[in-house]
Amino acid sequence: MNPILLPSNRPAERFYRGGARISEFRGEAVAAPREPEDWIGSTTTVNGERALGLTMLPDGRVLRDAIERDPVAWLGDEHVARWGADTRLLVKLLDAGQRLPVHAHPHDDFAAAHLGRAHGKAEAWYTLEGGTVHIGLRQDVEAADLAALVERQDATTLLGLLHEVEVATGDVVWVPPGELHAIGAGVLLLELQQPEDLSILLEWGDFAIDGAAVGHLGLGFDLALAAVTRTARSAADLAALISAAPRVRLRLPRGCRRVLPTRTGSRARSRDRRSGILDRDRERRRRRDRRAATSQRLDPARAPRGRSARRDRHGRAARGAPAGALKPESTRILPG
Ligand SMILES: [Zn+2]
Repeated sequence: MNPILLPSNRPAERFYRGGARISEFRGEAVAAPREPEDWIGSTTTVNGERALGLTMLPDGRVLRDAIERDPVAWLGDEHVARWGADTRLLVKLLDAGQRLPVHAHPHDDFAAAHLGRAHGKAEAWYTLEGGTVHIGLRQDVEAADLAALVERQDATTLLGLLHEVEVATGDVVWVPPGELHAIGAGVLLLELQQPEDLSILLEWGDFAIDGAAVGHLGLGFDLALAAVTRTARSAADLAALISAAPRVRLRLPRGCRRVLPTRTGSRARSRDRRSGILDRDRERRRRRDRRAATSQRLDPARAPRGRSARRDRHGRAARGAPAGALKPESTRILPG
């Protein structure tokens, strides 16, 4: 294997702020205020763009073209036999300099039927630096109520509809297509997703985008919101979506070195179990301090601590247990 070192690939002028920690991680000069994503090994373009988002190889070729010319060499026989030259994957670094808007992505069938796209957009997050994420409805929502909240741009109520979850370094969050979600300010993620740039935005007041014009993917909100899941997620559902990262021993090829943090969160949880300290206020203070220090290097030693974890019947930390600390359910009533 011959690893190819790729420079960063950061579409400019995204609609939300962030990116300083990607510059730091990459050892690059400080970027513009709204370059919060690095599209790694990308064969995907920014929605509506011809080339923006595509990865350029160091030899000047476009990665997408190189794969199309020789898919077996890049993807292997089995993959090509099943999927052709479609990589089926887009990987991003995502540095949320501000909370992202409440949004969802279409599933495959919807994207094929209404957008003529080969994929919807399911995504999963590997947490590099933790914080708050919002995912899944706390109660069912009627279509008319959701549409009214979007119409009124009631961001506070929209966000309040979602479960609020604390995630730490190493936690993995699965975001099925259709699921409403928002990544909190200060969270740094490695995102694995289907190779599309299709987002249905439900709020846009604090963002550099005309959501009324483009937040519905050109379909109108009546149709676009039909792709959004309006049924509630229980705590058990969330436990299936959010888990501590599996422990994997990697044998790295020559010339590669590990740069992602390891499971510092779980070690910290063990420490807390011994001391009996599960102090959420302390965790909140630590998160606030961490956000303030946005220029710090990606450093496992500074990863969030103070997390709780479920145990299995032997008393061990359960691998598949929800890693996030769920906010207690409350009984917010939707506006009629
Ligand atoms: Zn998303």
